[in-house]
Amino acid sequence: MTLDSPINKISGIGLKFQQKLKKIGIKTVNDLIYYFPHRYEDFSNIQSISKVKINKINCFAGKVLEIKNSKTWKKNMILTEALIEDKSGVIKAVWFNQPFLIKNLNPGDFVCLSGKVLLGKNGLYISSPVHEKTNIGRLASVYPGTEGFSSKWLRWILKEFLEEFKTQIKDPLPEDIIREHDFLPIQEAIWQIHFPDSFLQAKKARARFSFEELFLIEIAVLKERLRLNQEKAPCISLDIKTIKKFVESLNFTLTDAQRKCAWQIVKDLEKSIPCSRLLQGDVGSGKTLVAVIAALNVVKAGWQVAFMAPTEILTKQHFKEVSKLLSPFKIRVALLTGKEDKIISQKMCYATKDGVIPEILEISRTKLLEKAKKGEIDILIGTHALIQDKVKFAKLGLCIIDEQHRFGVEQRAKLIQKSKYLKEKILLPHFISVTATPIPRSLALTIYGNLDLSILDEMPEGRKKIITKIVSPEQRNEIYGFIRKRVGAGEQTFVICPRIEASEPGVVSSWSDVKAVEEEYEKLSKEIFPELKVAMLHGKMKAGEKEKIMRNFKIKKIDILVSTSVVEVGIDIPRATVMIIEGAERFGLAQLYQFRGRIGRSDLQSYCFLFSDSLSAKTRARLKALIRAKNGFELAQKDLEIRGPGSFGGIKQWGIPDLAMQGLKNFALIEQARTAAKKILEKDPELKNHALLRQKLEKFKEKIHLE
Ligand code: ADP
Ligand code: MG
Repeated sequence: MTLDSPINKISGIGLKFQQKLKKIGIKTVNDLIYYFPHRYEDFSNIQSISKVKINKINCFAGKVLEIKNSKTWKKNMILTEALIEDKSGVIKAVWFNQPFLIKNLNPGDFVCLSGKVLLGKNGLYISSPVHEKTNIGRLASVYPGTEGFSSKWLRWILKEFLEEFKTQIKDPLPEDIIREHDFLPIQEAIWQIHFPDSFLQAKKARARFSFEELFLIEIAVLKERLRLNQEKAPCISLDIKTIKKFVESLNFTLTDAQRKCAWQIVKDLEKSIPCSRLLQGDVGSGKTLVAVIAALNVVKAGWQVAFMAPTEILTKQHFKEVSKLLSPFKIRVALLTGKEDKIISQKMCYATKDGVIPEILEISRTKLLEKAKKGEIDILIGTHALIQDKVKFAKLGLCIIDEQHRFGVEQRAKLIQKSKYLKEKILLPHFISVTATPIPRSLALTIYGNLDLSILDEMPEGRKKIITKIVSPEQRNEIYGFIRKRVGAGEQTFVICPRIEASEPGVVSSWSDVKAVEEEYEKLSKEIFPELKVAMLHGKMKAGEKEKIMRNFKIKKIDILVSTSVVEVGIDIPRATVMIIEGAERFGLAQLYQFRGRIGRSDLQSYCFLFSDSLSAKTRARLKALIRAKNGFELAQKDLEIRGPGSFGGIKQWGIPDLAMQGLKNFALIEQARTAAKKILEKDPELKNHALLRQKLEKFKEKIHLE
């Protein structure tokens, strides 16, 4: 038997269990060994029955004297009662609706029980304890997702087989790393994670695997980066004069952060290896402007720019902004949207020398594509229509992608491939990913670890601060009155409804979100504001429908928009000045911050009201962080600490293993993993001398889907 053998080679796993294990992704011996428990039950701290502590978790070991089932007359439940005896005394154990227990526990059995001891009418009893017959005096591991079998069964299988097989497990981590970090050697670590001697040992084992997983992630992203560094890109020399002229043409001065980020990017563009950079910044921090500086530089050097955004409405917004910003220059900006063949005319704008924004020309799609191919369009802005085969460029020098997590990896790759139409030699375009979704540095270093980071952590001066208030339910009518007044003054309101979290972790039903929105919409449109134009928006609507609503909101055909969290981040609705967030406690702080960024986009004073069903002191304290926050990153970091990496939308789909997920909270650990990965790749970029690690990496890459 080897690590790659199928699990049916392990004795005790029959066909039925094979199928059940397969369901949770366990197919091979290796899968099973690396299926780690998510917690441990403590049977290690055994007390005497005579020394129980009431209302506390107690753990006893003793003999089962008797055990019986009975029906409770009140609620028609099955009650199981047992008497347990140790040297010091006897105590009763009680379980509800677990009649099968009497099959597992027989009089005379020696058993360990752990649970809360309560004082009932007839004296002390231990309430619904967990029991253990084999791990007495130890910690018992509890495994996730064990539907159809028990942790106990898994432990039983593992123990027997691991005892024998253990010596065959080889360490994928190089020896010097183990030594440097004082990790448990692999065989010991595997044993201790499944059958720990103590919590400390379990922790040590988990720390090792947490590191190992992060290390693999870092190797994967850094390898990707090294591969990219082998590619060639056009060297775009910095045209200081043009950039100066551009900056002078603005009616504001750049923030220091904008200056810094723009500098990092133009420096990248000068190199012959492709720039690959993530530009992060809050909504309104001026990312588009930085991207435009880069684009201008590229165009002046004689290359084309492709700028892709996830929705039509966003591309139109970018198109307008970019054309306006570049109007003092002779730059041809065009917009390509729409589905195949549906839209025949596409907009195109030739900015003129004299700085006046010209009329927008409409030309046919065929014409537009022809121009792009001939190099007669400098900046082509579009939705994923840009990646269609028909779209060709003469000299693509830079790709900018807005909110890249909204696109698939292949879609991004396809856009970059557009450069292959160069005749002489293959040059990859430079690449900038722009996002308003704040991601803590530790996450960015792993998930986007193949990208360099530029962060706009500063807002342009002169923005009015959004007045944010936590409001109690009694103030609801007052707030509605306030909205009526604002709408009367020609302003608009967002009402954001919470995502109803499903009880099952990881499974969030978007239908329940819809229900919340529908109810709120009914209430607001019929009862509260029958005289106003109220509309709703949620994720189950078709893309076209959603865009239409957003468009109508933008052109003020709608006064109040009731929505789930789907509202586009980058959308500019200057007259939206009020936002109500219902069930605010259910959202992550970074998410709340992002919602709020949809208002306050003009010189009008804006207001954000946070409603909450449970205004506990804790909730209040958490929500107050939003009022104080200087930027989204700060809050994202708090979310990571409080709620864990799972609170970042989309992270689940990356398939990162649990221990690495836990490790993502630990910035120091990530730095260590990254440093170690760098060190090993410097000496051995193909991992030729680390065969085990290489194999492990291959397997790991099948499971995770990094950005
Ligand atoms: P983001 O894309 O980060 O949300 P934008 O680049 O769209 O932000 O900028 C938002 C608005 O702020 C635009 O109207 C832009 O012209 C303006 N702006 C950008 N940078 C500055 C600045 N340094 N000072 C004042 N206004 C700015
Ligand atoms: Mg923008």
